[in-house]
Amino acid sequence: MITFGTVDTGTETPAPLTRLTEDETLFRDSVLEFARREIQPLVREMDDQARMSRGLIGRLFELGLMGIEIPEQHGGAGATFFHSVLAVEALSSVDPSIGVLVDVQNTLVVNALVRWGSDELKDRYLPQLAARAVGAYALSEAGSGSDAFALTTRAVESGGEFRLTGRKLWITNAHEADVFVVFATVNPEAGYKGITAFIVEKGATGFAVGRKEDKLGIRASSTCELMFDDCPVPRGHVLGEIGRGYKVAIETLNEGRIGIGAQMIGLAQGALDHAIAYTKERKQFGKAIADFQGVQFQLARAATELYAARLLVYNAARLRDSREPFLTAAAMCKLFAADAAEHVTSLAVQLFGGYGYVKDYPVEKLYRDAKIGQIYEGTSNLQLQTIAKQILGS
Ligand SMILES: Cc1cc2nc3c(=O)[nH]c(=O)nc-3n(C[C@H](O)[C@H](O)[C@H](O)COP(=O)(O)OP(=O)(O)OC[C@H]3O[C@@H](n4cnc5c(N)ncnc54)[C@H](O)[C@@H]3O)c2cc1C
Repeated sequence: MITFGTVDTGTETPAPLTRLTEDETLFRDSVLEFARREIQPLVREMDDQARMSRGLIGRLFELGLMGIEIPEQHGGAGATFFHSVLAVEALSSVDPSIGVLVDVQNTLVVNALVRWGSDELKDRYLPQLAARAVGAYALSEAGSGSDAFALTTRAVESGGEFRLTGRKLWITNAHEADVFVVFATVNPEAGYKGITAFIVEKGATGFAVGRKEDKLGIRASSTCELMFDDCPVPRGHVLGEIGRGYKVAIETLNEGRIGIGAQMIGLAQGALDHAIAYTKERKQFGKAIADFQGVQFQLARAATELYAARLLVYNAARLRDSREPFLTAAAMCKLFAADAAEHVTSLAVQLFGGYGYVKDYPVEKLYRDAKIGQIYEGTSNLQLQTIAKQILGS
């Protein structure tokens, strides 16, 4: 007989993925309560005006949500990646634009600095990022999106500094940001081995932020072009090593896409909650539409898809926190959660009928917001490519 080892149904049994610790539950509920009380009333206006409320950004700093993983000695909360995931999920159930602001700050910018920054860079920027500075992460260019390492922004070393020239496109948070992680090549002939990550401050000579894109969804989140024209950057502002910026990009984006998975499950939960409440209230043929089995089955399928997406997201985040390999899990969670969000928000619009198609009800916006999950931080095809490489060993 094969040995079963010591069968222990107590402490040795791995915890279910959806079980949160007491602290995690308290944290998630507090973020949710804040989102419903302070963000909800501003969602429509911020979406209409395609503008993020500065006051809300200030509140996110006060609550510690902009420096979740920043060590306490640098003024942050010193919490885990999983906390970032819980925060992004809770915020996105009310407004995915706020969700992505917090996501980029924590899972990309702070993460890159904590992991790759020199002591000087950490001492200088982490306290700012925890207290008042919004961060942005600039990899994409007009000609290099999925093929990110084909970037052409040039960094030329001269004296004790680098000079950056080129343009970045689609940069989230750029309008509000004070600190930018910027990828440029120090040697185009070296291909990806020329790519280097730099910290650039707003207001640096030769650096300008372009106009905001007019988008389908997450409209309150700014997305802008960045222009660099012989912009001086001190040598000490290199993140990690010169020519190893590709590693910074790959590793931060692997984690960042778990955050996007969290954004997608949050917004899908928001849409599902609205759909459940509405179908219980809306009457047709003399009864609530939630009493029709056809509607019940659609809601049941959506809830199941969302549950599966949440398991994938939480598992990828827990793997990351326990320092286990999570590359495939991260790609799968983003791929699946983005599709689930698209389906669930579409169903929510459907179940609201004509009311789902107008801006007076929240599901119209969540439906528009969902689409971005299949595009940024690696399109769905690129996630499939990563998963295929792993399972085929190629
Ligand atoms: C709102 C928004 C916010 C963003 N924020 C940021 C940010 O903060 N920082 C940043 O650096 N970038 C950001 N981006 C850029 C984003 O990451 C890119 O748009 C994305 O990676 C896709 O690149 P692309 O737009 O050039 O599309 P392309 O790479 O041109 O892709 C077009 C289509 O071709 C498919 N495709 C491409 N290559 C392959 C392949 N090998 N196999 C199969 N299919 C393929 C893609 O899946 C896609 O469907 C943002 C984009 C948007 C829209």
